[in-house]
Amino acid sequence: MKIYRLILAILILHNLCIAQNDTKTFLNDPNNKPREHSVDITNMKVEVSFDCPKGIVNGKVTHTFIALRENTDTLFFDAPGIKIFSVKLDGTDCSFTTNNDGLTVYFSKKLTIEKSYKLTIAYESTPKRGIYFIGWKNQNIADTKTQTRKQIWTQGQGIDNRHWIPMYDNMNDKFVTETVITFDSDYEVLSNGVLKSTKINSDKSKTWHYAMTKPHAGYLLMIAIDKYSVKKTKTTTGVPVSFWYYPEHPEKVEPTSIHTEKIIEFFESETGVPYPWESYSQVMVQDFLYGAMENTTATVFGDFFNVDSRGFEDRNYIGVNAHELAHQWFGDLITARTGADAWLQESFATYYSKIFYGVIENSDKVKLINKNEINAALKASETDNFPIRHTSGGTSRVYQKGSSVISMLRYVLGDINFKKVIKYYLTKHAYQNVETNDLYQAIQDVAGQNLDWFFEQWIYRGGEPHYKVSYKNNIDNTDITIEQIHKTNELIKLFKMPVNLAVYYKDGSVDRKQVWIEKQTQTVNFTNKDKKDISFILFDENCEITKKVSFARTTAELIAQLAGAANMIDRYDALLELKNISLSEKRDALLTSYKKEKSETFKAEIISQLANDEKTINFLLTEVQNSSNEIAKALVNNIKTISPEVKDVFIKLFETGSYDLSEKILTRLCSEFPDNANNLLKKTEEIFINKKIYGQNNNIYIKYLELSSFYGVNPDEKTMILEKLSSDLYEFRTRIAAMEALKRLGICNPSSVSKMLDAVLSNNGRLSGPAKNILKYFSEQSKYKNIIKESINKGNYTDAEKKIFKEGGFY
Ligand SMILES: [Zn+2]
Repeated sequence: MKIYRLILAILILHNLCIAQNDTKTFLNDPNNKPREHSVDITNMKVEVSFDCPKGIVNGKVTHTFIALRENTDTLFFDAPGIKIFSVKLDGTDCSFTTNNDGLTVYFSKKLTIEKSYKLTIAYESTPKRGIYFIGWKNQNIADTKTQTRKQIWTQGQGIDNRHWIPMYDNMNDKFVTETVITFDSDYEVLSNGVLKSTKINSDKSKTWHYAMTKPHAGYLLMIAIDKYSVKKTKTTTGVPVSFWYYPEHPEKVEPTSIHTEKIIEFFESETGVPYPWESYSQVMVQDFLYGAMENTTATVFGDFFNVDSRGFEDRNYIGVNAHELAHQWFGDLITARTGADAWLQESFATYYSKIFYGVIENSDKVKLINKNEINAALKASETDNFPIRHTSGGTSRVYQKGSSVISMLRYVLGDINFKKVIKYYLTKHAYQNVETNDLYQAIQDVAGQNLDWFFEQWIYRGGEPHYKVSYKNNIDNTDITIEQIHKTNELIKLFKMPVNLAVYYKDGSVDRKQVWIEKQTQTVNFTNKDKKDISFILFDENCEITKKVSFARTTAELIAQLAGAANMIDRYDALLELKNISLSEKRDALLTSYKKEKSETFKAEIISQLANDEKTINFLLTEVQNSSNEIAKALVNNIKTISPEVKDVFIKLFETGSYDLSEKILTRLCSEFPDNANNLLKKTEEIFINKKIYGQNNNIYIKYLELSSFYGVNPDEKTMILEKLSSDLYEFRTRIAAMEALKRLGICNPSSVSKMLDAVLSNNGRLSGPAKNILKYFSEQSKYKNIIKESINKGNYTDAEKKIFKEGGFY
């Protein structure tokens, strides 16, 4: 919501940016153009009701807007496939036309600049995207605890709300939204903002009226409907928090909703900006297309994150929870003007989620996540070198690399100035759009620093530095030589960074220097008057920089680094380098390190390196029984021979471990001891199945059915259950796992094929993708080809659906 002068100012500023972009953009980005608009929408009120089995939205939307230009006599709204009944401007009918993209409204007289208008559109749509009707076609839901739910939920980002609301669907205009939803009063409805009122209608239906008080971008509008229960809490800073959950699973509330309040409080203190909205809700939905979505005040997340305490050990919602919450500031409060600046949202959300682990765990965990981010960046560079700020940057740049770059920005600016910059930048642009230049300027304003070089090499250009490091020990000094050996071109230049170097001596003393490395080759000299023996040398101590390093070190140096480096991440680096070193050389060092280190990831890596060492197996077996699932998994995944002693320990872990661990052990033991499979499956029944403990998304149940069928325990009955689990009676993760099991069993019959075909037609790419692969696998075998072909011909499929099957190569 902006007044005209502001728009003008932004336009002028934008022109300046373009001028600047001539020197700052090193790779043409034709998709990066802010969309033009001749009015500024200030309010959008959406009133809807639904026909669920048919997937129909009946709606009315009222846009309040201010004309931004003279001579405006038409207005376009995104509304692909929406049937428009009427359009009224301030109560008077307007003429309109529609095409595949949307609706054009014609005004009988030109709009007056800076004047406010109200335009109401009555419509109906049967959208394929944007809003999703889950489970309504299914009449045979016997068990709401395990089978599909009946829900409606929306997903607006990127540009999908336009499929069910005729609207200006672009991130560069912000407006206050209101949502008025009429639905069955047995259900609960969540939307953005504050619930202003509810009322029961004469037909017993109920109407919920939600409204925002501050503007946000249209893609952040949401609705979620199911028979939810709501847990309400408050942060110590007074933010009301609601957690919307399935009442059938109260045991999952605590493990899933853990830390939400703490995350908000941490982000408030970290950014210096109070949570910018009236309240925060989270709602779980079935068959969600992504992990979660940061709709303003109301995050939607996939119910595969809805875990009990055992499932929590394998996969939990904490990281995603923090990521989506960070978006309430980075994305919702300030919003990128175009897709090229998506990093201002995603990299920051990823960064703040990462540093939250410093609160609930420690800084070592943050460093390990950062290390993974660096690896993701280097991996992406094997394919291309798009900059972070580019519409083709790709997810690992916009998420992981961007987050590692923000960590470097903090390293360069220092903690105090980094936090001051973020507070200033968020406050200055609150409820508005931003681009990279706004952050760059905030640094100039707050810290007086010109970070041209930083933005150029890390944001506007691509690639990462590859340093080759070597050292020469002279009589009373040491030369460390650093070469930048990556290929340079128009897009990737030499990098400039302050780098921490450390020389560790055998007497325990350390010499440290921070040096600006920016030339192709630089030599840094450390004096060593006392002629001390060098133990090992660290380049970029504590791993601050996103980079690749080639630094040949001896085993003795690596073992000394594993034992003596001050920071965990440097010790971990040595551990990874020791991977291919013989056990006899590293065993003692690894065992000493294991006893000293706190990090689970660190310990799991040691276990995986020692897993096949006969001399330490007894120690390992004791350890895995007293440690986390991560450590136990490292042994189960890496051990090659399962002796009777190992088997006994594995069976104990099978009974008490996390669901993934139990599934892994069951699979491993059955294949290792096929003669004993029946006993193991009986045990699975006793421990899990008879008690209706089916695992996360039925993983234990499905593995049990698959193995029972494979080892001939009532195979027909078991495959029939698997087929049922692959049907639309179940959520998508169960369906995929059941289909994968059927694939391994080689089961392909008309009944199983019809369920796979149904999955292929799903709007959820996370279901249709794997289903396509499995059907393709079967259709490539002559014995199954005809079964699939007949199923398609006999089924009641439309031509459009048959086209999808043809494109999938199934017939
Ligand atoms: Zn995100």
